[in-house]
Parts: sequence; structure tokens; C-alpha cells
Amino acid sequence: MSVLAKRVLEMAPSATLAMSKRSREMQEQGIDVINLSVGEPDFDTPMVIKQAGIDAINNNFTHYPPVPGYLDLRKAICTKLTRDNKLTYSPDQIVVSNGGKHAIINVLLAMVNPGDEVVIPCPAWVSYPEMVKFVEGVPVLVQAGIEDDFKVTPEKLEAAITPKTKLVVFNSPSNPTGSVYSYNELKALADVLAKHPDVYILSDEIYEFITFESKFESLAQFEEIKDRVIIMNGVSKGYAMTGWRIGYIAAPKDIAAACGKIQGQMTSAASSIAQKASVAALLQDPQKSEDLKHMVETFRKRRDMMIEKLREIPGLKVNVPTGAFYIFPNIEGLIGKKFGDKTISCGDDFANFLLDNAHVALVGGDSFGDPKSFRISYATSEDKLMESARRIKEAVAKLK
Ligand code: GLU
Repeated sequence: MSVLAKRVLEMAPSATLAMSKRSREMQEQGIDVINLSVGEPDFDTPMVIKQAGIDAINNNFTHYPPVPGYLDLRKAICTKLTRDNKLTYSPDQIVVSNGGKHAIINVLLAMVNPGDEVVIPCPAWVSYPEMVKFVEGVPVLVQAGIEDDFKVTPEKLEAAITPKTKLVVFNSPSNPTGSVYSYNELKALADVLAKHPDVYILSDEIYEFITFESKFESLAQFEEIKDRVIIMNGVSKGYAMTGWRIGYIAAPKDIAAACGKIQGQMTSAASSIAQKASVAALLQDPQKSEDLKHMVETFRKRRDMMIEKLREIPGLKVNVPTGAFYIFPNIEGLIGKKFGDKTISCGDDFANFLLDNAHVALVGGDSFGDPKSFRISYATSEDKLMESARRIKEAVAKLK
């Protein structure tokens, strides 16, 4: 019998981080692997934000901060929510955590009892179902296909809700599909949720600023459900600050207090220095930020280029994602094909095949709840993207 607890033995490792680790190990052996697995901006944190971190050290913000975060940061988050989302929150509704993942697990720990169902529109980010299982909840996956741009319909959402549903985890712009729900699409989902007053919504808005054609919309804007929406966001993606590890929630007061209580016993506050840098980040108006404009424009160019290249590869079906920095091609046309004695029967097989034979690291769709697909993160240079598309095409041509 293992010395380890059931909860960890039953947990799948993070597929995004596992693939990234494998590609790093191959690179360390001198193999020229192009890593399109992990999703993080390849831009550096803007100078003004870095300077605020340096100032925080020089000004001795090196002691324990209050558990839910410094008041100036929580106020800056409220300012951001009013400025960007027209939403009113008070600082006691905000809890700052050690990255978005930490903010999410706090909410699940605070709200989910054993056996509670958590509805997750799918394809979904790898960690949601695993975190739900970790808190002894039951993930209920609602599938959306490429024909719907991977967006869940109100009918599908309605059908997934039962008397045991506690939460719906919603994510737009989506990781892994890059799909962005429009106002009307969200309104239709909000109408369904309005009929279920006991169901709460955890809205992961971490890719808010990375949209191309359509504008970001929050589920929290709908009055009839606003009191049941917990917004999760952070500085990682919009401000190229993944390593600073700052995420937060904006939530009803009792839920925010519960998350603060959990955090107080488990991790205490997030880094004082990263918090001070995040104040500088969040006080920037994204409408006026040249850094953000440049980043989004660059992502858009790379997306267009990559879609064009991927569509030249027989067997791949590629839709146009309108946000985040992911493409989620469908590989149904390649299922059953062989390379030597290996058969491609799912996205993970395809990802392993590409890593071994094309030295391109990406993530199979299986852990995102769609084994007929794979995810490309195009947050890397154009040269690397062009070369990876060339390698993928060449490798696919070898499949029989
Ligand atoms: N959100 C990123 C991704 O999906 C970071 C890795 C992770 O935490 O899963 O690649």
C-alpha cells in the first residue's frame, strides 16, 4: 500500500506542466525542441511594473501583508473592475492569492461539499476537474464541439444542472480553445442560471485582455445572477506577469471571507513585492496601454499566420479562436493512422508522436476533455511558429 493519500494518488498530474517539463528535459539534452505547450506570454513584464516591485523591496515591503492582500491592491482591483467591467465591488469582497490556481482552489474548498456537482463546459483547462475531485466534488463535463466554436449552448448547460449542482466553472476567453463568448451568448447562459438560484458561478476571466475580434464580456454584468458570480482574475496573462503569482477573486462577502479564512490557515498572503507590482499593473488603463496593444497585436498576427499554416495540413480541422493565445485543432482526420507500429488514436498520441518525431511540444486534447484535438500555445516567436508548422506538416505526411 502506498504511503501517499488517496487524494493525491487519484490526481492526474497537470498535462500542460508535464509537457513543458518533458520539452525542457529534451532541450537540456541538446535536442532542438520547439515548446508550444505551456501557455504564458513570451513578453517581459513592462518596466513600470518591474520598477514598482523594486521600489517595494527598497521601501521594505518585506513583512507579512494582510491575508486577503494589501488594502491598496484590493482598492486597485475594485478600480479595475469599475473601469474595465463597470462592476462595483468593495475591498472586503476581494481576496488576493498566490496565482489564479490558488484563487480557484480556495473557492472550491470554501464552497464544495463531498458529492456536490460542479458543471464545467468542455474543452476546459486541465486543472478544473482535478481540483474539483480534490475537494471531493463531482465534475460534470458539458461537451461543446468545433462546429459550435467550442461554446456551450444554453440547452446543454440547462441539461447539465441538477439539484446537486453547486457551481458552474466558466472561462471566456477560453483555455484551451481561445473561444470568446459574445454578450448575447452570455446573456442566454445567464438566463438559464437565473432559473437556478442555488447555483453559483466561478468565472475565470484571466484572458480578459487578450481578445481580437470580439470584446470581452463578464457573466457578472447580469444583475439577475451577479450575487452568485465569483470573478477570478489575475495579472499573469494581461500584464505578462506569470512568475509574479498574483491572482484574485471578487466575490460575495461571505465567500470572500471564507477564502480569507482558508488562506489564513494555509498559505497566508501572497508575496508582498508581487502585490505592490500588481498595484502598478492594475492602475494602468488597458485602453491606453501601449504594452498591451503591442502584445495583443502580436498575438493576432501569430494566430493568423499559424491558422493559415495549419489549414494546409491534411487531416487537421482548425477554427478561428478569437481570444487568448491558443489554437485547438481537431485531428479526427488522422485518427487510426500509423507511424511504424504506433497508431494515432487520440490527441495525446498525436502530441507524443510530434514530440518524438518533429520535436514540437504541444498538449494533447485528452486532459482538456477532448481527445480528438490538441492545443497549440502560439505565445512564442514567429520564426519558431513557422518552423514548428513546417515540422508538423512534414511529420503528418509520414503517417500512413
Ligand atoms: N494556464 C497555462 C496553461 O494552460 C499555464 C500552465 C498551467 O498552470 O496549467 O498552459
